[in-house]
Amino acid sequence: MKLVRAKAQLRDELAGAHGRGETIGLVPTMGALHEGHLALLAAARERCDVVVMSLFVNPAQFRPEEDLDAYPRDEERDAELARVAGVDVLFAPAVDEIYPEGFATAVEVGGPLTSVLDADPERRGRGHFSGVTTVVAKLFNMVEPDLAFFGQKDAQQALVVERMARDLDFAIEIVVVPTVRAPDGLALSSRNAYLSAADRPRAAALSRALVAAERAAQGGSGLAEALAAARGELEAAAIEPEYLEARDAETLAATDNFNGRPVLLALAARIGPARLIDNLVITPPDRVAGPGD
Ligand code: AMP
Repeated sequence: MKLVRAKAQLRDELAGAHGRGETIGLVPTMGALHEGHLALLAAARERCDVVVMSLFVNPAQFRPEEDLDAYPRDEERDAELARVAGVDVLFAPAVDEIYPEGFATAVEVGGPLTSVLDADPERRGRGHFSGVTTVVAKLFNMVEPDLAFFGQKDAQQALVVERMARDLDFAIEIVVVPTVRAPDGLALSSRNAYLSAADRPRAAALSRALVAAERAAQGGSGLAEALAAARGELEAAAIEPEYLEARDAETLAATDNFNGRPVLLALAARIGPARLIDNLVITPPDRVAGPGD
């Protein structure tokens, strides 16, 4: 595995692979690697000749009051995990390599994908996603991958990146990898490190809530009832969600029923110092058409 810090070095490193027409896969990360990241790397390893992982804690996607300084960093450990996972090139630039003096451009997806859920101005806001799409667009230009891998854990982020890639004609296949969970259901996240020993078991209520909603839906309940089942699980763990919403899984348009399209059930909650998000896509079984349908 080659560790590179500079854009020019990255280009040099990949020139041969591009010349030979090899398939290049990019896995963008902010480090503090866990099994979720490793699933992305495994998917990339399986589909690509060359796997590039970026490790960059992107200041542009943090709000001033967020955890940029506290964000867990351990490059040595990450590099070793990346090597074992079969990464060919680890790109770990300094902040001024990505945002040099005078940097003044942003890539921003507009519309509903960046105005709801985490993009609500009261929450992380559109600026968070603009920070993500700006750095991802830059990485796409630097690496010129054939495929790029993102996690379903950050469902809204994956949709926003897909939109950006389509809108800006990046000829890159966006692969979305299923969420990897701890045995008790908690979605793995670098931010789980902020959970205290007392809060860690409580955090499992987030995924229990989503599963309760899914069960209700599979059992024939409507969306309101399914959401109530989820709310019940959260209440039992004394968790007040920042949001718990059902939206069209592709457009993020609000939905108040299961109308045959997949529904994204998304939630965010603060547990102690950790702000955690999770989601599940629910596709209720086809209803038997009845009179009036
Ligand atoms: P991060 O380092 O948190 O920015 O995440 C880097 C990539 O890993 C993003 O595409 C995330 O969606 C993905 N990811 C994070 N956690 C998980 C998880 N538990 N399962 C699958 N993918 C994940």
